[in-house]
Amino acid sequence: MHPRRIVAIYGKAGIGKSTVSSNISAALSQMGEQVMQVGCDPKRDSIATLCGELKPTFMEKMQEKRKVAEADIDEVIFTGFNGVYGIECGGPKPGRGCAGKGVNWALETLDKHNIFDKYGATVVIFDVLGDVVCGGFSQPIRSGYAKEMYIVVCGEVLTLFQANNILKAVVRLHETGVDVGVAGIINNMRGVEHEQEIVEAFGKLIGVPVIEHIPRSKVVQEAEFDGKTVIEAFPGSEQADVYRRLARKILENKDRYIPRIASLEDIERVIIQVTETELGDATTPHYR
Ligand code: ADP
Ligand code: MG
Repeated sequence: MHPRRIVAIYGKAGIGKSTVSSNISAALSQMGEQVMQVGCDPKRDSIATLCGELKPTFMEKMQEKRKVAEADIDEVIFTGFNGVYGIECGGPKPGRGCAGKGVNWALETLDKHNIFDKYGATVVIFDVLGDVVCGGFSQPIRSGYAKEMYIVVCGEVLTLFQANNILKAVVRLHETGVDVGVAGIINNMRGVEHEQEIVEAFGKLIGVPVIEHIPRSKVVQEAEFDGKTVIEAFPGSEQADVYRRLARKILENKDRYIPRIASLEDIERVIIQVTETELGDATTPHYR
């Protein structure tokens, strides 16, 4: 059985990729999916809230070995909340070697041993650092593992601009014939004024819809403090409703887009437009 869906979640460091990924994984597992979450960030904390703690990484395990046996791989696949499987690719020590190397290597090994099939995964979520989309970090989409990707942003102008690194990688791969597209933008809100409108306008600018606006909520930290996802720790919260709704939308979403690349000036222009509209005619615009 081949996974029904393989989804990559991209975004810059600290934007909330792992929080989004883990809560979606937890929610999908409750919808009857067999989920496998693959952490592709040297920070290695992708599956921590699913598994209750930081886990050894693929890279660490494999550095001990000359030849990788299937049993070795099984040792770095952990079962977390509600039967979700978690893998952490890991990476070299900071400053030593390409940060994406662990990802490259882990994916090739998982592929060679048919791990997604072996574990009966129906949904695979790649949680990928997208600051620099070098070889390793583009691997989940480059090799055609994930044909759909979501990009996590917030309403800050530089964050939206930085999303270009990822969007350009998608355009480039598409041009070389790789079957990949952006399925949506996830707005993990930071508390910027008019944040929903700004991110919606950004979506229109690049031609990719916003699939969800996720509020900032203290239950995220409270759950994290307990080593849990919001879905596990606060299933009755409004925040859990948002993650469940997003998980459902991702499952149902079949759309993919090749983005337009926006310049910093374009992004600033739409932000100014949104701000002016929100302020109304009575107020003098600050910019121009
Ligand atoms: P990334 O994986 O992109 O590096 P994380 O998912 O680890 O980012 O999130 C970074 C920090 O932001 C975490 O401490 C997390 O608790 C917090 N965070 C993420 N999303 C939210 C949210 N919606 N509300 C409040 N805090 C959040
Ligand atoms: Mg992370």
